[in-house]
Amino acid sequence: MDRALHLSSQGLIDREIAAMCGVSIGAIQKWRTGGRRAHEEQDRLRSCPRCHGRELDDAAYAHLLGLYLGDGHIVARPKGVYLLSIYCDNHWPGLIEEAATVMARVMPASMVSRRQRNGCTEVKSLWKHWPHLFPQHGPGKKHDRAIVLEPWQREIVTAHPEWFVRGLIHSDGCRGINRVRRVLPSGVHWYEYPRYMFKNESADILALCGEALDLLGVAWRFNNRNELSVARREAVELLDLHVGPKY
Ligand SMILES: [Zn+2]
Repeated sequence: MDRALHLSSQGLIDREIAAMCGVSIGAIQKWRTGGRRAHEEQDRLRSCPRCHGRELDDAAYAHLLGLYLGDGHIVARPKGVYLLSIYCDNHWPGLIEEAATVMARVMPASMVSRRQRNGCTEVKSLWKHWPHLFPQHGPGKKHDRAIVLEPWQREIVTAHPEWFVRGLIHSDGCRGINRVRRVLPSGVHWYEYPRYMFKNESADILALCGEALDLLGVAWRFNNRNELSVARREAVELLDLHVGPKY
């Protein structure tokens, strides 16, 4: 079939190709239209939701946006191509898989590859249009510049706050066990309870996390300048439905 398509691209007519390949003219016509469709489909998948109006998988995008704001980078490569990288801790193989899956759902035509780096796996994908999907891309560290979502991004996050929060917490947060010491008349008691933390140096990204938690009805508070936590039992139970421990 590859040979037939090659001959067709060289300008040979179907009858000649059929004779050279030893198949019917009908088979050649079928291969040719099928090949063209596959080509068109590839072009469609490679197109950009912002520039060309390709439909975006909104839930996957909200998830990837959370991962990107937590631990992602975009760098320019030669020929106008950009590399999107998400750094995932090797302790959590399930989350490495998730990051790769979600990246492929947002950009289905680019191969998602992985590279080992100091206890982390870099999950990455090359595409010309990554900065259009992540206009927060810019020089320097994210906490040294304003991180403001564009209206279309805000719309997606508002529709899928659970995926956005999952991306944020699974990159820059955790679900841990907090131990609290209480001195009661009956003696010293230790209590353990699960809680979520999200730590980020950017006040804008912390605020975005807080807004998404508000949309989910999950109570949260600031622990300090660069960290928020979800500790009330019903709030943790609610967040467990959407995020859960790392795996
Ligand atoms: Zn674009």
